[in-house]
Amino acid sequence: MNQAIFDILDQLDSYIYMTNPKTDEIVFVNKKMREKYDLHDSIGKTCWKVFQPQMTSRCHFCKVPQLIASNNQGRILWHKTNEQSNTLFDNCDFMIQIDGHHYHIHQSYEVENQLALYEKATYDELSGIYNHSTGKEKLYHLLTHNHSDFSVVLIDLNHTKKINEKYGRHEGDYVIHTCATLLSSLLDKDEFIYHYSGDKFIIVFQRLKASAHSLLMEAQKQINETCKNNKKPYHISFTYGLVEILQNKTIHMNELVSLVNERMYEEKLKLYRTETLEKKDSVIKTDYTFDDYFDPHINLMFEALTSSTDDFVYMSNLNTGYFRYSSAQVKYFNLPGELVHNVLSIWKNIIHPDDWQKFYLSNMQIVDRKTDYHSVEFRAKNANQEYVWLRCRGRVFSHDDEDPIFAGIITVMGRQNRIDPLTQIPNHAQFLKSLQQKVQSPLISTFSIMLIDIDEFKSINEIYLRDFGDYILKEVARLFQSVLPVTAELFRLEKDIFAVIYENSTSQDIENLYEDFCKILFKNYNERNIPINLSISAGSTCFPTHGDNHELLRQYCEIALQSAKENGKGQLCHFTPSLLTDKENKLKLIKQLKDSITHNFDRFELHYQPQVSTQERCVKGVEVLLRWKDPHGHPVSPMTFIPILEEYDCIQEVTLWILKKAIHDAKDWLEINPDLSISINISVLHILEDDFYQSIINIINDNDFPIQNLILEVTESTTAKNIHLLLDRLTHLQAQGLHIALDDFGTGYSSLNILRTAPFHIVKIDRTFVKNLESDDYNQTFIQFVTSIAHHVHMKVCLEGVEIMKELELVLPINLDYIQGYLFAKPLPANEIKPLLLKKNLF
Ligand code: C2E
Ligand code: CA
Ligand code: CA
Repeated sequence: MNQAIFDILDQLDSYIYMTNPKTDEIVFVNKKMREKYDLHDSIGKTCWKVFQPQMTSRCHFCKVPQLIASNNQGRILWHKTNEQSNTLFDNCDFMIQIDGHHYHIHQSYEVENQLALYEKATYDELSGIYNHSTGKEKLYHLLTHNHSDFSVVLIDLNHTKKINEKYGRHEGDYVIHTCATLLSSLLDKDEFIYHYSGDKFIIVFQRLKASAHSLLMEAQKQINETCKNNKKPYHISFTYGLVEILQNKTIHMNELVSLVNERMYEEKLKLYRTETLEKKDSVIKTDYTFDDYFDPHINLMFEALTSSTDDFVYMSNLNTGYFRYSSAQVKYFNLPGELVHNVLSIWKNIIHPDDWQKFYLSNMQIVDRKTDYHSVEFRAKNANQEYVWLRCRGRVFSHDDEDPIFAGIITVMGRQNRIDPLTQIPNHAQFLKSLQQKVQSPLISTFSIMLIDIDEFKSINEIYLRDFGDYILKEVARLFQSVLPVTAELFRLEKDIFAVIYENSTSQDIENLYEDFCKILFKNYNERNIPINLSISAGSTCFPTHGDNHELLRQYCEIALQSAKENGKGQLCHFTPSLLTDKENKLKLIKQLKDSITHNFDRFELHYQPQVSTQERCVKGVEVLLRWKDPHGHPVSPMTFIPILEEYDCIQEVTLWILKKAIHDAKDWLEINPDLSISINISVLHILEDDFYQSIINIINDNDFPIQNLILEVTESTTAKNIHLLLDRLTHLQAQGLHIALDDFGTGYSSLNILRTAPFHIVKIDRTFVKNLESDDYNQTFIQFVTSIAHHVHMKVCLEGVEIMKELELVLPINLDYIQGYLFAKPLPANEIKPLLLKKNLF
């Protein structure tokens, strides 16, 4: 058998073996499989004896009998978990004919290594229970393989911070350890607890609410007794939130965690209310100096800031609970004074009831020291008793936790429509306004803009549906906010585009911020086995270096972003003037192209290249290739202008014109050969459009063209990514009788995979495989191998790029169906095609 076939199989990234279907003897095992399972001397042995040593005959799941029964045709796709390694495999079995003999090929891909999740299991030192990452993975596993009802509880210990401060850290550690071990000892075999963070735990119960509740009450009782027995001077208690998950209900990990968090804080809120009722009303000081309450330097800073911004500045000493507000803020909200204690009771009367919970929870997390950063939008009544939208952002600063200061600003948003309703961050209008203000402000000497685009967001939306896309956007906004420097603002401009305006930043600061964004996304998605790959592209510009007006800055920033995307995405690109020249050329070209389109497609032309049948040795079809000349009459390569038409969303319009024109030109030719096929190149962007199907069908019907004579060519590189969605669209067209060709085959990756899953009618092998045919064994074998596989799944094969007779001679013994190349004809104008159609015996 041809060694080159084995060489190709050795290079594929899946496990492949071949057997003789009559004897089950192993004929070949590819490199990946040989190395993984140490199968270096398995050739000639019986497959089931090698792969399943415990078996006494053929495996019960063996697909060979089925394949033989179906006359060695077709493929069988199936899944199986390998019990020993606990790994899920995606398998494909089919027969292939080589040198007149049938061979069975088995190919498998590793889908998920479940064991790896457990191997990583480690325990948390302090609490003695599962650590965060192990617990999270166990929970994730449960969520994705949910076959019974269960509940998830988030436990938060009350007053740990106070115990730490009053009795020392070791007492705090004792509290955490005691609770963790006690809770853990009460759980059933299938239940588990893990350390979520600080003094929070997550328990996964195999029981519902009532039973979980009584267990937790019991735990509380036992904790109290332990404290009493050990003569502890404090009392340990906890608050919890619970979510029940019923059998087969799907809930996303992040969604679940935020839900239990929310419920836990609802409980905290109730607790806080009872506790504060016991306290006195807010204290309003009148006889004081600010230096009695805050460090004099901090007061000076506060006053300097207050006088230089329209926003309201506030600060608070978290140990004493005193807040200092600016006099403007006191006036605006009619607050009782500039120095206030127990402020929540004041704000409770001012804040819109619908927003109170949000405001309260956000502040509680700061007071509880669960987070050091907060950003919240809410409505509150001003002195005229009108509700206004406000955005409050603040951060905790502290030196070794001595006198932590919580400080920030409150911005009056004015109108509600400045906030993006989905992500709750400022929207496009607010971005423009902020940009304008910053350009004009004498107080700001420099700032940068960064535009951020989520890569492949469109496919996330398409594959996982919109709701999930929306969820991702909310998450991304939240995660970005959590690492945003205080002098930076985040906006959502549109769809998946975010922007940051970052005051007094250098390009290094922007790079660091971009890195922080990537890291936090990576931490939240890629590290957590969530099967999406969130990467971001970004562009940045700097004021005043790159421009002194906001429109120019924004435009340049977009150019930088575009360049980041064109260079392969997943990167940050700073604007430089050299980007302008490229961009200017492109803009000039698109303008000229659009001019052509509006002038009835003048300067566009169609050329046709014959495809020759190897059996009948005559033209069996033509491929339509677009041509365009610039206003000086110089032809521009389709490799240059087609990507631009695609980028500026013009390709759809042009393709419909091509289809109409080609159908018109071809009518005449069908009289000579009624079976002649017309192949049109379709951009994947176009197929993804909602009205793609209908517009194609309309043109075919309006022109009364036989649909079975039409072939749409789709390229492999793009189909690999969006295969499911594309197939769905194409299947509708196929159902009407239209044929689909897979273009440029071999240039993308996972080629074999595509052949086995996608029902195309024709595979077009890319012309790069025709080069050096004589000396390059690999290319020839590749063509041979693909042809053989394609024929087994009833696809036709067309080889592109045959330029000379020698090449034709070399490929003729391979059972190709069609050949397209300069040898027979270059792409020609319509009027030169007819004579070729009449020619017989082209070789
Ligand atoms: P493609 O779809 O792979 O088209 C075949 C290309 O190979 C054509 O280049 C053709 O002239 C060239 N070719 C054919 N035989 C030979 C040969 O023997 N030797 C060599 N060296 N080349 C050969 P062309 O016309 O420059 O088109 C380039 C690409 O532009 C096409 O590649 C296709 O991806 C795109 N394109 C052309 N027309 C259209 C169109 O109407 N719509 C769309 N969406 N894309 C088009
Ligand atoms: Ca093509
Ligand atoms: Ca091609």
